[in-house]
Amino acid sequence: MKKYYPIDSLKAPKFCGIRTFMRLPYVQTTEDVDMAFIGIPFDTAGSYRTGQRFGPAAIRDASVMVRRYNPIMKINIFDHISGVDYGDLPVVPGNIEETYRLIEEGLQPVIDEGIIPVCLGGDHSITLGELRAVAKKYGPVALVHFDSHADTDDEPFGLKYNHGTPFRWAVKEGLLDTAHSISVGIRGSMYHPDEVQDSLDLGLEVITAEQMRELGLKEVAKRIKERVGDKLVFFTFDIDFVDPAYAPGTGTIEVEGFTSHETLSLIRDIKELNYIGFDIVEVLPEFDPTQITANLASHVGYEFASIIATHKKNNSPYLSDCRKFLIASD
Ligand code: MN
Ligand code: MN
Repeated sequence: MKKYYPIDSLKAPKFCGIRTFMRLPYVQTTEDVDMAFIGIPFDTAGSYRTGQRFGPAAIRDASVMVRRYNPIMKINIFDHISGVDYGDLPVVPGNIEETYRLIEEGLQPVIDEGIIPVCLGGDHSITLGELRAVAKKYGPVALVHFDSHADTDDEPFGLKYNHGTPFRWAVKEGLLDTAHSISVGIRGSMYHPDEVQDSLDLGLEVITAEQMRELGLKEVAKRIKERVGDKLVFFTFDIDFVDPAYAPGTGTIEVEGFTSHETLSLIRDIKELNYIGFDIVEVLPEFDPTQITANLASHVGYEFASIIATHKKNNSPYLSDCRKFLIASD
């Protein structure tokens, strides 16, 4: 089996070469790959600032600093997995329905092979397209959703789709195993008193940022793990989960968020879950002059890679099952 791994930064310094995620080879293949980093540069469904179309490039640029050994998870990532930068999927600026079709079509070969995708957004609307592709293979999956927003809005501006609606439609389209899905980190001013209730009514569990502070993050990790159990799960990470002091480069900032340490340690504390896909969305480099947001996003991707490498090292049975899973038929 061929193995794809990053360029050795002690042989060719980090500033050499064309920027890919963690200096992985840019190869659009589904053979001999465990994990693929895929850009989805769509941002015309944002409700305030746009420019997330440049998110994938910014995350790749910052990610050259990420080294391959994770000392906290004690894993040398590419000893255990083969990974590629798959490049970007094509999108159609201003046309979300056509973009959803392209996301589904572009991701399908990756997901069909049981490869774990890490999609780099893009605004949060893209996750609906990703979940459509995921559900086609696996059926409804559990969702772990880190965000300051619930993203279950009902037809803003009289339209079905924008970056505040993906999980309403994911539930309505039957893409989610709602009984095992959870949104955490919700906070800030709201349009109406029922924003959290809307998510609960759709069957999702919600832990607001305020409740997270009361519970403590170890307890939050425990509740996420209890909720998801052993179900196949997709992890969607909106960078505005993090406080704008640590992640200013995003479209719809909310104060009173979590630090970069709190964020990454909470991700590590739920590493045992059976992840079949991830995304990192809403990075907006124009408002990120020092690259701290892109840097943090690249470390979120590195923790995701560390998690999958750990599952691979431990021979987690769900990972080999992914490879043979039949395409769900209706
Ligand atoms: Mn969001
Ligand atoms: Mn958000």
